[in-house]
Amino acid sequence: MFRGILIEKDQQGYRATLKDIDESVLPEGDVCVDVLCSTLNYKDGLAITGKAPVVRQFPMVPGIDLVGLVSHSDSDEFVIGDTVLLNGFGVGEAHCGGLAQKARLKSDWLIPLPKAFSPRQAMAIGTAGYTAMLCVMALEKNGVTPDKGDILVTGANGGVGSFAVMILAKLGYHVVASTGRTEQAAYLHKLGAKEVIDRHLLSEPGRPLAKERWAGAVDSIGSHTLANICANIKYGGTVAACGLAQGMDLPATVMPFILRGVTLAGVDSVMRPIADREAAWQRLADIIEPQMLADIATEMTLEGVIQGANDLMAGNIRGRILVQVG
Ligand code: NDP
Repeated sequence: MFRGILIEKDQQGYRATLKDIDESVLPEGDVCVDVLCSTLNYKDGLAITGKAPVVRQFPMVPGIDLVGLVSHSDSDEFVIGDTVLLNGFGVGEAHCGGLAQKARLKSDWLIPLPKAFSPRQAMAIGTAGYTAMLCVMALEKNGVTPDKGDILVTGANGGVGSFAVMILAKLGYHVVASTGRTEQAAYLHKLGAKEVIDRHLLSEPGRPLAKERWAGAVDSIGSHTLANICANIKYGGTVAACGLAQGMDLPATVMPFILRGVTLAGVDSVMRPIADREAAWQRLADIIEPQMLADIATEMTLEGVIQGANDLMAGNIRGRILVQVG
């Protein structure tokens, strides 16, 4: 038995509980780990609260991120005592995840913990930070360099948004942070934002094509916000779109794409090939000074996770939640 969060769905309904879990719950895998740290991402919030059907199998241990110590290995890649990092691959959705003391995983999903980071630092970054890095890499790939103009980051007080602001600022971009919590402007300026704007300027239905304002954008919001961003992108600019905090719809027209050559770059972190993951984590290691993480991450134990998930869904969490497990 080990301690963890278990999501069950049966005649008694959908529920997440902190409890002792039998090892028989863990699915097949060639590597067992003792989990050291995990995190709470938006998707974990959806899974734990049941607000969206992200869990595809029951019972399920949520947690799309983990750092753990290998305790058993049938893989040639990893030996007992290795410290490994996992982000995504359907873990916490279709395969038991990181919000428990033990996990059994496929070695194909694991990478060694980057040397630059401790387990806690890597989880302060987590899927949100790694996705923000993938978004910035998508902008770079499409030629959005700091000299091209202002970059918009939406959901700036959230996990992806906080990291996108920090990374872009560190790389020399002029970052404009959009948020519903303008009272957190001091935090966003500390991360490197040059300007802070109210998200309500972007969230209502707008014009199909509007003033050219942004050279690029990192958007974790979707819906009207993403449509308005596309309408405001400068000629040849790029939007890296990774999220749906406002909604999964995209009520846009083709005008920005066919008249201004705008690129809408979709960013997925979940099924990303290992080489891309390692490249993104290497960039994070090059860019992030570990002391910067203290500004972004709030720490809790498994005991706080269910309340934390509710707070995250209510939009009351700033930055990231790091969960100390082991
Ligand atoms: P967080 O909950 O940490 O942040 C989301 C932020 O979005 C909030 O802090 C808030 O920012 C803003 N927001 C929330 N609700 C609304 C709303 N109704 N309208 C406009 N803005 C809103 O989540 P994450 O940063 O972890 O994830 C953000 C999104 O990115 C999610 O949709 C998630 O599923 C997605 N994602 C996708 C990944 C991928 O692989 N494609 C990987 C990781 C995340 P503020 O208070 O500043 O306004």
